[in-house]
Amino acid sequence: MHEDPPRLSFLEYGSFLAYGASLRATCRRKIVGCALFKDKRVVATGYNGAPAGAPQCDEVGHLMVDGHCVRVTHAERNAVLFSGGRDLSGGYAFVTTRPCKDCFNLFLAVGIKNIYYLEDYRKEDTEEHVEMARKEQGVILEKIDSCVVRLLQKSLEFHQGPGGLLIARNKLTIEEYNPEMMDH
Ligand SMILES: [Zn+2]
Ligand SMILES: [Zn+2]
Repeated sequence: MHEDPPRLSFLEYGSFLAYGASLRATCRRKIVGCALFKDKRVVATGYNGAPAGAPQCDEVGHLMVDGHCVRVTHAERNAVLFSGGRDLSGGYAFVTTRPCKDCFNLFLAVGIKNIYYLEDYRKEDTEEHVEMARKEQGVILEKIDSCVVRLLQKSLEFHQGPGGLLIARNKLTIEEYNPEMMDH
């Protein structure tokens, strides 16, 4: 019997939301998105960018200090700020890129102990720190063992199955797509 395409697992879902948030990043030094969960429910998402209302790096250029653009607030920090002060202890963080030492510290400070990411980045900056947090507090920092392409593919397959957005009945043709409607 033909089986319906499977829905995303919890880890895939978290990764997918982090990926989705990254699509709004405004600093292309590094495109990053983050999604925070508490009790398996999403609390907030964030992406890296200049403060709301300030021009984007793409428009005015980066401000580089020690190899980092300092105009931006990191995706992880934005996500924590947007969580409205909710108790995040025991929560999960998903980030498209391995968190820097400051963001890793921020997660620890708010009690997030399960951190998953999709790509490695300056691993050597945090390796020792992560090992210490693992031993002392049981913090998990793990790379998700699934490439982004596979994740996106699975999401497409799911929507090509029964009830999906991409089955023939609901599929928009490219001529019907109106970019102006989406331009907000
Ligand atoms: Zn920048
Ligand atoms: Zn960071």
